[in-house]
Order: sequence, then structure tokens, then C-alpha cells
Amino acid sequence: MQSRKQNPLVRQDAGPIRRQARCNACGGTLGPGLADATDPLTGDHFAVLVCQSCGLGHTDPQPDDLARYYGPTYHGGRHGPTAIYCALRRALRVRRAAGAAQGRRLLDVGCGEGTFLQMARRFGWRVAGTELNPALARAAGFEAFETLEAARGAGPYACITLWHSLEHLTDPRGAFRQLVAMLEPGGTIIAAVPNSAGWQARAFGRSWFHLDVPRHLFHFGPRSLARLFEVSGLSVVRRWDHEVEYDVFGWCQSTLNALSKKPNQLYETLTHRRGGSGFAASWIVAGALCAAALPAVSVASLARRGSTIVMAARGASASKASMLPASTPPGGTP
Ligand SMILES: [Zn+2]
Repeated sequence: MQSRKQNPLVRQDAGPIRRQARCNACGGTLGPGLADATDPLTGDHFAVLVCQSCGLGHTDPQPDDLARYYGPTYHGGRHGPTAIYCALRRALRVRRAAGAAQGRRLLDVGCGEGTFLQMARRFGWRVAGTELNPALARAAGFEAFETLEAARGAGPYACITLWHSLEHLTDPRGAFRQLVAMLEPGGTIIAAVPNSAGWQARAFGRSWFHLDVPRHLFHFGPRSLARLFEVSGLSVVRRWDHEVEYDVFGWCQSTLNALSKKPNQLYETLTHRRGGSGFAASWIVAGALCAAALPAVSVASLARRGSTIVMAARGASASKASMLPASTPPGGTP
């Protein structure tokens, strides 16, 4: 931990900060990436350091007190009218990667209000979730835990999902160590993250909608995500290169961000305001921009340079697991 004074970019009241000395996924050396990335909510400034080995981006510095960067409207209701479609697509991908549910257990890390848990339950999974504030999911009738440690007792799990939660964790490698310990032999972990190596990220840089520092503490591409799976003892079995509404809206809002001094205005209007003429006009603007963005999303996805990556990996089966050492040595796969 360092004092605030050592980083002139962050506001004086930001509190204690952390700086990553080595890559969280592979232990590699960090070098310069983005020099100035601005938090669209607070206006605080950060940098992104990039691993020279696997390409994982690290927000720098990382505030210890992240609560002030989320605010009261961050959790829940972020998908709007696409929520059901999004949950259905994810449940179908889980079935392709992990097989039919057949009453097995599934844990969703960062479950929000439980929209995906609801869909997974309909597909036949016995579900549980984790969330920093589990009240919304509990109110919806789900078993929800505040920490991975607490969720472990309800395991083991045949499938663990992280839908855009991995990049928010303070220690992805440590979290994966915990998740692998909760996994049934041959179980599946599926993670979805914004793709920092995609065309959208490269085109817009600091204006990229999905950069979202400092809530996104880490910035994955396909190489660094695969590396995290591998050093955790998992084998990648599937990859998808889009989550269409993330990709489409990313093109729209990033374009507006590049043109405007006030970032994410369209997104804020669509997700947090209810009714009013500005709300209706914003939907018309969003509809037109999204239609224009669809061809870019299709081509980027086909080229495997989409704005989102979804990767599924499997743990060792029971017979193989018994042959492995009890823990993976730090710094990488042997
Ligand atoms: Zn690395």
C-alpha cells in the first residue's frame, strides 16, 4: 500500500491505494499501456499498465476503498430490456460448455439481482450466487453469499460463472484458486470480460465505454484470460467473441464519448432515469446508433476481435485430479 501523495493523478480524498508490482495472472513484468484513463463517474484519473508477457492490463493505482466508485445506482437493473435475452443466451452457452444441468449445482460470481440465476434455474441447475451486496438476490429468493469463502460451504459446483465480474475482483488469480477448490472434478468455469485486445478497445482507447476504470481493475484479452485459466490448472474448451448487446452499445457509447466532454451520458439516461422526453429521445438515438453498429459487431466477432470474450474451461477429471499436486506453484504452470 502506498500513500496518495505518490500518485498525483488521483484525487486527494481517494484514500489508500494499491499498486501491482507484477502481473496478477502470470507474474510477468508490467509496462506502460494507457497513460491517462478517466473515471466517467468521479473524474479521477488512472493509468493502465500492461503485462509484457500475457498482455493483462492493470488499473494503476487501485484504490483500496472502491465503494465510493460504485455509487448507489451501480448494482441491479443494468441490462434494461435486454436482460432476459442476455440471460437466455448465457444459459445456452453454459449448456454447450458444461452439458445439461441435471440438477447439478451452479455458482454465479457477481450475481447482481439474480436474473441469470433465474434462467439457470429454469434450465435445471440448483443455483447460488455471490454478490458484494446480496440483498437484491436474496429478496428474489436465491441463496446468495457475500464472499467466495461463504459460498464454498454450499459447494462443490459443477459450473461456476463470472459474467463481467472477473475484471472487478481485486485478485483474479487468488479468486480462481478459490474457485477451482470449489469445483467438482471435471467441472466448468465460464468467464465473460470486455476484450481489451478487440477492435473497439483499440479504436477508442481512453474513450472506450468498457474501459470503466477504476471499477475495472483488470483488462483482459483472449491471451491473458486463457493464461489465467491455464495457471489455475484449467483447460480452455470454448470461446465466444461477442455478447451482442455489450458489443453494440460499446460502439455507440464509445463514439459519443470520443465526441463529447461528458462521458456515458446516453448510458446513464437509458439505465438510471425513468420516463421523460429526454428518455424517449435517448432511445431513438440509441436505436439508430445501434443499428449502424451491427455490421461492425458482426465483422469484429467473425475476426475474433469482438468487444467481449466469453471463455469456458474445465478442471481435471477425478482420475486426472488425483495425479496432480495439491496446489499450483505461484508464478505459473509448471
Ligand atoms: Zn501476465
